Amino acid sequence: MKFLAALLLTATAAHAENTYIEHVTLIDGIHAPQRDMTVAVEGDKITTVAPSAVARGMKGKKIDGKGKYLIPGLMDVHIHLKGGFDITGKVDAEMGPPNREEGVQALASFLYAGVTTVFDAGNRAEHILPLRADERAGKILSPRIFATGNLVTYPGSHGDRMAVRISDFEKDKALLDKHIAEQQPDILKLTLEEEGWGSRPMITLMPVDLLEKITRYYNQHGIRTTVHVSSELRSLEAIYAGSDTLAHPVIQGPVSDSFVKLMAAKKTPFASTLTIGENYSRLAEHPEYLDQPLYVASMSAEEREKLKTTTRAEWQKRPWTWWMKIMTPIAQENVRKIHAAGGTVACGTDQSTGAATQRELELLAAAGISPLDVIRIATYNSAVFLGKADQLGSVDTGKLADLVLLSKDPTVDINNAKSIVFVMKNGQMIDESQLPLAGGKQKRRFSGT
Ligand SMILES: [Zn+2]
Repeated sequence: MKFLAALLLTATAAHAENTYIEHVTLIDGIHAPQRDMTVAVEGDKITTVAPSAVARGMKGKKIDGKGKYLIPGLMDVHIHLKGGFDITGKVDAEMGPPNREEGVQALASFLYAGVTTVFDAGNRAEHILPLRADERAGKILSPRIFATGNLVTYPGSHGDRMAVRISDFEKDKALLDKHIAEQQPDILKLTLEEEGWGSRPMITLMPVDLLEKITRYYNQHGIRTTVHVSSELRSLEAIYAGSDTLAHPVIQGPVSDSFVKLMAAKKTPFASTLTIGENYSRLAEHPEYLDQPLYVASMSAEEREKLKTTTRAEWQKRPWTWWMKIMTPIAQENVRKIHAAGGTVACGTDQSTGAATQRELELLAAAGISPLDVIRIATYNSAVFLGKADQLGSVDTGKLADLVLLSKDPTVDINNAKSIVFVMKNGQMIDESQLPLAGGKQKRRFSGT
């Protein structure tokens, strides 16, 4: 047993050695790029961030960062990890047992794409919670996992399938206590949605006073909340019911000027989730995107083939696909306006691969947000969303060492955020050849100097 345990440790959580990166252009998640910097990592923490000209007494392995770019690990604050249910399948399809292997492969795809933190905004508890425990114990190669476990909804409302259903606060309080005690949600996800938009039928909506009571109750247990909303009206109701964050931007129509001002004043973080809406027409019109290296690494050949054939044919026929194609540019403009006014946009996809997170960066840049700001959105702002900006989200002394070294400048083209030299999580450099990717074994990208 001892031998097995030791083997497991070497295989997955190979011990971090002290490292320092010299002469690198630092894009720290908050500020403008700084040239010729030294960043040192000891154990799991960043211990020095200083101009190379003055940095002294660095310990450990030296990495020459000349001509390269260091950014904080990317974050995706709205995923639903694969394996819990069929994300490409029908809404009312039967859910079989959770598929742990699919989950582990999807987690690996995030690390491969430079994503070192994810928030699962609703899943089957028996799928996501053991993986979260394994990640925290260093047993699997995975980004940091924050999770709600089951989300909380009003019976019959959005997300009902994976939710604790609450119709009356006093009557159902025991269910909330059970959720808190057994699942220890890092952030609670609720839903406030009557649908009735695009090609969707109307569904039951959670009463706002119930939303307020549940939000307050979780806050009193030290837990932040996020809410699925899709319209300006429900966003406003969620914010004034006390929600800490929103799980989506407004996607049902253009936002009003007063809403933009309000979001800039409140700075309520919201997840961008442009990729989910855009991915339907993208598959219908441009299935060749699945041949890009990140998708090839992240998905099995069979899965890509199924998407290109069966799923594509289904999606081409669905009105939903073409509704979302029309609404995506409107959502992009809503996100851009709130960002430009000083609101807090965070990076989320509502998807389940690192390739999708990189797509989100592309869509944010296409919205007219500068690549430098897109990086801030996917790092510091996302840490703010999670309530973890004291530990994560920027390259700063004392923070956890989640870093990505790039060979090309991401501030001139956001696609350069894919030019990954290496990914480091918790001070440990990820060896890509050890990642259990669905697309098969990949070569280690960093040769060591
Ligand atoms: Zn979602």
